Order: sequence, then structure tokens, then C-alpha cells
Amino acid sequence: MKLSAFGRKFTADAGITSLMDDLGNALASGDDMIMMGGGNPGQVPEMQHRLTEILTDMTRDPEAMNRLVGIYDPPQGEKQFIASLATLLNREYGWELGEENIALTNGSQAAFFMLFNMFGGDFGEGVHKHILLPLAPEYIGYADAGIAPELFRAVEPEISFTGAHEFKYRVDFDAVEVTGETGAICVSRPTNPTGNVVTDEEMARLEQLARSHDIPLIVDGAYGTPFPSLLYVDARPRWNEQIVLCLSLSKLGLPAARTGIVIAAPEIIKALSGINAIMNLATGSFGAMLAEPLVKSGEILSLSREVVCPFYHAKMKRAVQVFTDALGDDCRWYVHKPEGAMFLWLWFPDLPVSSLELYQRLKRRGVLVVSGHYFFPGLPENDWRHRHECIRVTYSQDDDRVAAGMRLIADEVRNIWAEH
Ligand code: PLP
Repeated sequence: MKLSAFGRKFTADAGITSLMDDLGNALASGDDMIMMGGGNPGQVPEMQHRLTEILTDMTRDPEAMNRLVGIYDPPQGEKQFIASLATLLNREYGWELGEENIALTNGSQAAFFMLFNMFGGDFGEGVHKHILLPLAPEYIGYADAGIAPELFRAVEPEISFTGAHEFKYRVDFDAVEVTGETGAICVSRPTNPTGNVVTDEEMARLEQLARSHDIPLIVDGAYGTPFPSLLYVDARPRWNEQIVLCLSLSKLGLPAARTGIVIAAPEIIKALSGINAIMNLATGSFGAMLAEPLVKSGEILSLSREVVCPFYHAKMKRAVQVFTDALGDDCRWYVHKPEGAMFLWLWFPDLPVSSLELYQRLKRRGVLVVSGHYFFPGLPENDWRHRHECIRVTYSQDDDRVAAGMRLIADEVRNIWAEH
């Protein structure tokens, strides 16, 4: 098979493809593997109950059923959902959104593909623009999303210690460099893989940098504010025309509905809708229609804050406690201050084996995590050991399984130190 540059780029071994393959194979092997590797949300009973109610009502209404499966939506997305969301966000936050400020995509992953390639890549006349990731580590799903090579530039973080076994990454503004070749700045908040929440002050500085260079600040709120609000520290929701805010229904419990939401200046929404029309004709209506009653009533915000957030917060607390009890002070270890999302980012300074080897050893013992080295897209290879000393652990699944997994990790780390 002969492939174009595009074909070759997207069939080459991408980090995310090999990772998904490995996770999928481990799952399909039928072993009783403890899955702490992927980003699948947990099952939140109240959310499932409410979604079942809404879907049941729709199946009794022929007109709703026709809208659900029988018509193409416009490329910008399901109109009623967009109108209700604009009303809700204006009422809550005074953002003065019109329907021209919101587009829906088939998952926010698709939105990132379009946005990164709209703002980064070949601008003609020899100009190649990059997407700046001001705080590495960042979401692995960005890594291979560029049509142009080397689309991302990332910046090493500052590390501060916030407890005996806890640290936090902060943006190193002295190292953040926005140039004429920066097409956009992008940050996930909370961050996958670390659970970091970039502070309001850091966000304000990034916004100021974007404004002064007339480029967008893309904020990935897949876990963030205003929903699904997997946030254990305060974080102000913010939008204005400098910001492209990407939200998702996935982590509320609808990952299979593939609904991403982009809130941006009208010209960006128009461009995005055009690309979406070419790639997808229309965005699927299912997630938007299921969630619309929750948006209209404002429940999407109250359920996020009062149900979904506490569900994950309790899981996070338990996972940290189990790990602390299991490993204690037996060796040097740190967890990134768990401020949001559904991950613990564990750092084992000077561990005699790499995080990839630790991942493989853990897989042999029946627990799947993700080696941290994948999460540094855009950071040039250098001798920074830290990126081979961390693993990402997902705590969204059953508490007892998560606890068993955390104990196995502690045990394996202790074994490694004992062997060396
Ligand atoms: N952004 C982050 C930080 C994520 O972790 C994910 C998925 O795990 C996505 C975006 C994409 O989510 P979706 O395409 O389901 O909206």
C-alpha cells in the first residue's frame, strides 16, 4: 500500500495507538487485570438514573425520537442544546454568549484535532506555527494530532513540594516563550495525567500572553469547570473571546455519546463548523439531546458539583490513603497534589528502573497503569530523568480493585528497591 504524507503520518506508530493497543490487549486477554490505565469515567449511579429517565421519556415521544436518530443536525451541532447552553452560561457567568459562540463535535478529541491544525502548521511563505503547551506533562491525546510534523512545543514545569510525599507543578513563566511562530497556547485544566489544576493566577498570565500576541488560549476543560467539575480546589470558570474553551460530556458519564463542546469567538466557531461539515457532515445528536434537559434546568451544574465531583473526590482520598499506608516512608515517593480529574501521578525519584519497566512489571502482576514518559508531547528529548520516573494511575473504577492495585504498586516499588 502506497500512502501519502498524511497517510504515513497517521499510520505511523503513534504513542496513543500503541498505548491503546496494549491496554486493549491486556483487557481482551481475559486475565483478571486491574484496570488503572485508561481514562474511562466511573459509573455514577445518580447520573445513570437521570440519563435513563431522560432517554425513557424520549422513547415515548415520536417527535423527540425522530430528532434523536432521524435527522442530520447542522455542522455546528444540535440547535436546542446550543441555545440552552448559551442561556445557562450567560445566566450563571454573564459570558454574553450567542448561539454563534458554540459548536459541538464528535467528542472533544475531534475538536482538538481541528483546532490544532487550524492554528498550527504551515501558514505559507515558509512560516510554520506551533501549538505551545506551557506546562508539561500534558495529555497524550494531543501528541499525534498534528498534520504538520513537530506541531507542539512544551515547557518543563517548576516543581514545588507541598507535603512530605506531595508535589505540584507550576508554569515556569521564565521559560515560556511566545513568538511570532506560536499559533495558540493550550492547557488542560485539570490536567491529564497529573490532576494538577493550573491556578487562576497562572490562567490570567497565560491569557495575557495570548492577548498580547493575538493568539487564542485553548483551555481543555474535559474534567473541569463549569462541568463535569472534577475539581477538588477552587478554579474560576472563565471565557472571553481570547479563550477557546473546550468541554465534553464524556467525564459526566457519556463517553460513548462522543459529544465535545467548543465555546469561542464566532469566526472560530464558523471555521470549525466548516471543517466539521467536511469531516463528519454533521455531529451526532445523541449526547446533546440526552444532556439538553440537564442544561435547560441547570442540573448539569448542580449534578457536577454535588454528585460527580464528590464521587471522584472520595475515590481520590481513598486511593491516596491506601498508597500512603502501603508504602509509608519505605522509599522516596511523591504524588502530584491531586487537585482534580481522575488520576494520581506518582513520582519515584531515582527509581532504579524506568517508568516503562515499572509499567511492564506491574502488568505482569495484574495491574495496568500508564508509564509517564508518554505525557511529554513537544518536549525535546533531553537528560531530564523525571520524565522516566512517573506513572499515571486512574482511580475511577471500583474502590476495592483500586485499593488492591495501589497496594500492588507499592509492593512492586519496594521489591525494585530491595533488588538494587
Ligand atoms: N482532553 C483530555 C484532557 C482528556 O483526558 C480527554 C479524554 O480522556 C479528552 C480531552 C477527549 O475526550 P472526549 O473526546 O471523550 O471528549
